[in-house]
Amino acid sequence: MRSRPSSRTGLALVLAAHGSHRSAQSAAPVHAHAAAIRGLGIFDEVAEAFWKEEPSLRDALDIVESTTVVIVPLFLADGYFTRIVLPRELRRAATRGRDVRVAPPIGAHPAMAALVLRRAHEASGLTRDRRHAATLVIVGHGTETVTGSGDTVYMLRDALRLTREFRHVECGFLDQAPRLDHVLERASTRDIVLVPFFMSEGWHAGTTIPRDYGLADRSEQGETRGISYTPPVGTLPHVVDVIVDLAERAFGSALTPTADEPASPPGDEPVTPSTSEPAPVRARRDLLAWVDNAGPDGRALLQVRIRRVRSDTYELRHAADTRQDPRTLERHAQPEAALRIARTDDAGRHRPLRSSPDLRRGWVITDLSGNALWSALAWLYPTAVLRWHQLRARTLEPGSFDETAAARTGIYAGVDALTDDALRHVIRSCCGDGSCLRSPVWRVRAAGSAASLLDAGPAIGDAVVPCVDPCSLFVARAAEALRDSSAGEVT
Ligand code: SF4
Repeated sequence: MRSRPSSRTGLALVLAAHGSHRSAQSAAPVHAHAAAIRGLGIFDEVAEAFWKEEPSLRDALDIVESTTVVIVPLFLADGYFTRIVLPRELRRAATRGRDVRVAPPIGAHPAMAALVLRRAHEASGLTRDRRHAATLVIVGHGTETVTGSGDTVYMLRDALRLTREFRHVECGFLDQAPRLDHVLERASTRDIVLVPFFMSEGWHAGTTIPRDYGLADRSEQGETRGISYTPPVGTLPHVVDVIVDLAERAFGSALTPTADEPASPPGDEPVTPSTSEPAPVRARRDLLAWVDNAGPDGRALLQVRIRRVRSDTYELRHAADTRQDPRTLERHAQPEAALRIARTDDAGRHRPLRSSPDLRRGWVITDLSGNALWSALAWLYPTAVLRWHQLRARTLEPGSFDETAAARTGIYAGVDALTDDALRHVIRSCCGDGSCLRSPVWRVRAAGSAASLLDAGPAIGDAVVPCVDPCSLFVARAAEALRDSSAGEVT
């Protein structure tokens, strides 16, 4: 058994989750669990990483400084993501010689049976006798494309049958047999409790399941049975204990707080400079010198203005609010406020792309130490300062579209077949024309000449922030373009 490193920045936890271009709800519990775990003070860094929104796993691994990294997949099934996507993304991400360990997905943890029962009890409100006569249905996603994708749910079903809390325990899937509609048709008990074995109130648990299975209006359809549809399991706060337990098992030792201070978001703690100082440490020092050497207006990075207000104390606000009286602005003193500000626009809409030019106005974050400033910027613009620094230091390592595309499967499979012309059309519409404030410097084709490297664009504010890999939103747009071109809409 290894003991825990005693120095700070020894151990990072990365929560790897799905995320969504469409809904802020998908990432909401991930951020909530990450914040709760930071408060426990048992990891030196806690970072979130997403498949369908920012920051990506590569970004998260680039920004953490710890020598040991434990990745806990916030997925409820051991399926497509954990068996195909995560290993592939890990191969593409730079582990920089660190000890990177991957825990099983949270859905495979033995405590999940108790959490499903908790949801079923809370939401159905059934008495003990009625529960014993009712059917419990665990709703999973499943997929026909990965063998054994439903195994986690089947094991859970078997464990719940042993508890005898419900007369019948079944599983019903969206994308594999047995389909949920067939399970509902066959269920003959007066009460049926549906527990979505999903991470969040996102697209499936919040929208498609209640809509497609008519859960809201079954009584209007003549449905006489009582059907309770509970919130998803993944939003329960108890999931935090599951994550910590999985991380401890992956790490091989019990984890306890090392100090009174809470654990930090990625990059928040300084490390002792060494001959191989991590890039985030150099980037943070470069950032502070850049701001310290500016005039009273500070520096503008994309859409935010950074000012030093006193020695070692900084302020952040929207660049368009530079001259605004701070008393008229929503005032915050914690870097975590940046995450809330970054996630929605002025109209409350989800912002899957943090560098889209619609950062909301009307706020100021004050009294930030240099480390807190770094954290706030990492939430507003994941890895932006690191990439800005790497561009200046000539240490950028751009990827390419065809490498990213070749690694895509499922609905994005074949996106690498897009022609160069069609691809440049997508680059113009998705990355250019003011749609994104980063400058794409990734190569269109990995084997192409230097001429295929897209130019870093002009500074936005006072800085050029390069983008080193096509983001998931870009790949989704490229897949749409491929479908359109197949239908003859792109020439
Ligand atoms: S791929 Fe394009 S849209 Fe996506 S982050 Fe990079 S520059 Fe922005």
